[in-house]
Amino acid sequence: MKADAASRALFVGITGREPDGVWSAPGRVNLIGEHTDYNDGFVLPFAIDRRTYAAAGLRTDGRIHVASTFAPGVVEVGLEELDTLFPAGRDAVPEWARYQLGVAWALRRVTGVGVGIDLAIASDVPVGAGLSSSAAIEGAVAVALDGLWGLGLDGVALAQAGRTAENEAVGAPTGIMDQLAAMLGRADAATFIDCRSLETEIVDLGFEGAGLALLVIDTGVKHSHSTGGYRERRDACERGAALLGVSALRDVTVGDLPRAAELMDEVTFRRVRHVVTEDQRVLDTVETLRTEGPRAIGPLLLASHASMRDDFEISVPELDTAVEASVAAGALGARMTGGGFGGAAIALVPKTRIETVKDAVNAGFAASGFPQPHLFTVTPSDGAWQAVSVYCMGGARDPAS
Ligand code: ADP
Ligand code: MG
Repeated sequence: MKADAASRALFVGITGREPDGVWSAPGRVNLIGEHTDYNDGFVLPFAIDRRTYAAAGLRTDGRIHVASTFAPGVVEVGLEELDTLFPAGRDAVPEWARYQLGVAWALRRVTGVGVGIDLAIASDVPVGAGLSSSAAIEGAVAVALDGLWGLGLDGVALAQAGRTAENEAVGAPTGIMDQLAAMLGRADAATFIDCRSLETEIVDLGFEGAGLALLVIDTGVKHSHSTGGYRERRDACERGAALLGVSALRDVTVGDLPRAAELMDEVTFRRVRHVVTEDQRVLDTVETLRTEGPRAIGPLLLASHASMRDDFEISVPELDTAVEASVAAGALGARMTGGGFGGAAIALVPKTRIETVKDAVNAGFAASGFPQPHLFTVTPSDGAWQAVSVYCMGGARDPAS
């Protein structure tokens, strides 16, 4: 069953009635700009054609019931209990429910509004593959609550509620890139984000017209943001910024790097160099997309991967193999995407060469003795929207009719 129908069926299963509506938000791929978000820098993600759906309906008893096809059971809490659960009491609810309840908590805290609600979630965003299933669930719940609670918030405010949920209710120290991408994305375009000002700009990708596809190579190697590697990289960035006398590495340019090399130890310097050159590569990618088109961004993707492999040291052999094999078979560029230590790589591939590149990646993994990766293409797509239809008494109604 498709995820939109599955969320509705789950809703009917747990409540015995039809939902008031089904809302959704997509996963995302970050085209370029890795570990720049928490350094106040630049990122260029796009929303993908895989979405998480939230079927939702109001309750009259001031309680929230949440369920998901991801895990069995229904979690039930009173609205006024949310303030005791988050952030300190989160262990009282299972992790998968903290995203939904955390968004409700964050929106209620900001707006003062809160009404009882039933929420049923289903998703076709793979979990833990670097495609941000977490931002997709936060986005789907945020637009559902915005609609049913009549909040009228904009995409940036809803993204901020998602980030609050992820940081404080789940406890994952992430930036706001994923939530903004899931909220603001546009078909065949990426969302340029200045992570300091939170100003965003839609940048046409033009993959369609250029005959390009974006292949995701999910290595199956599980990453976890809570492990020491991620923390260590953040600490190194903070240390580097402090030594350079700036509040964030965003304020350092490529021209400052020789001075940086003299101020810090070699490892800290390489961490800094990754962030500073990556910020520049994001700006160069936007410029190249506008002047030369998507076929010309390949070298920037490859330089980004090399920087993460050699300077930031967050790649793994499976990701390097994915990049090398896809480029050798005709990809224009490729890089690991997401936080690193596993997860997925992306490759920008002429549509005519997709099968050749897939075969080459599979062969490269087999030759190295790695388990076969999961390969699929993604299409840059629209961000959160009210999907499917609005249900009202007497049955379904198409919102367009
Ligand atoms: P990623 O965002 O890269 O997929 P994360 O570790 O940030 O990986 O988020 C994955 C977690 O998000 C899951 O372990 C689960 O707790 C939650 N999650 C994702 N999708 C769903 C879903 N459909 N229903 C409930 N929880 C989900
Ligand atoms: Mg996530």
